[in-house]
Amino acid sequence: MSDSERFVLGYDIGGTKVAVCVADSTGKILADDRLASGAISAYETVLPDMIALGKRLVGEAGLQMSDIKACGVCAPGPLDLVGGRIMKSPNLEWDAVPIRDDLSQGLGAPTFLDNDANAGVLAEWFFGSAKGLKDVIYLTMSTGVGGGVVTGGHLMQGTTGIAAELGHVILDVNGPICGCGMLGCLEAYCGGRNVALRVQAALRDRPDHALLKLPGVDGKIENVNYQVLREGYKREIPLAIEMWEEACMRLAQGIGIYMVTFNPELIVLGTLAFYSGDLLMEPVQRYLPRFAWPEFRNACRLGITALGHKIGELAGISVALYGLYEAGEWELPSAD
Ligand SMILES: [Zn+2]
Repeated sequence: MSDSERFVLGYDIGGTKVAVCVADSTGKILADDRLASGAISAYETVLPDMIALGKRLVGEAGLQMSDIKACGVCAPGPLDLVGGRIMKSPNLEWDAVPIRDDLSQGLGAPTFLDNDANAGVLAEWFFGSAKGLKDVIYLTMSTGVGGGVVTGGHLMQGTTGIAAELGHVILDVNGPICGCGMLGCLEAYCGGRNVALRVQAALRDRPDHALLKLPGVDGKIENVNYQVLREGYKREIPLAIEMWEEACMRLAQGIGIYMVTFNPELIVLGTLAFYSGDLLMEPVQRYLPRFAWPEFRNACRLGITALGHKIGELAGISVALYGLYEAGEWELPSAD
């Protein structure tokens, strides 16, 4: 069976929607649709809709359900990967729902569940810049920071399935508070939301600050976000330089820890790096020698996601394909 004849069904569960797609194992999307946000409510209502939409899309792709080799579900945490349950889902009021087994039963296909960051490293590994590699790390970087680690050709999942929480490595015990409740996590320094909050705090009692005069800010502290800080850095506003450099130095610290721990050949940075480019990568590279030996740095390339927005739509099918790969039913794509 060639790869283009091996079909999978992917579900990507977000805060306000469920995106569903049918794809072949080269990542080509054959049919896709989503459950509108208004339609999302209790699990008991959503589950039959998810199954019906999946089946409809399989038909639209010109396939039978028996052509679907696996189904993958990608959801934000917290998940119980061992039990295949979504423990809580923001905006969905779901509580410990056994989605993996329910979908598997409803669709009649083996179903696999994983979180956003693990799905992200799988998508980069199968379809993006990590094709053909065996030791890769992916950092989702948007409002928060998540991580996925492929080591020795396998996704690292840990003993209870919660491995690779790379955003919650603690960089300073006296550091700023993180959304997780701990102090000094990498996410507290580098996550988009926390960076914005830290800049906002620094601007309090400084109503005339140059950052508040940037386009789109209108003098309002609450309009200051990550993008505003980046713009300030570009314009060489001293406070912005100081805070941007600190965020980059802390990111380099985290990356150094990952290099020393996993000795990867590639670390891929997600959304914030995708939009910031060299403004982020240059300072991170500059600080990195403080945090990892040359032996680690020389072995590892630091890259930006090649998939960009596509990573979301490839997430569910990547989880499905990884299930097939671990079962010995699918081979990894080779490097281009
Ligand atoms: Zn944390």
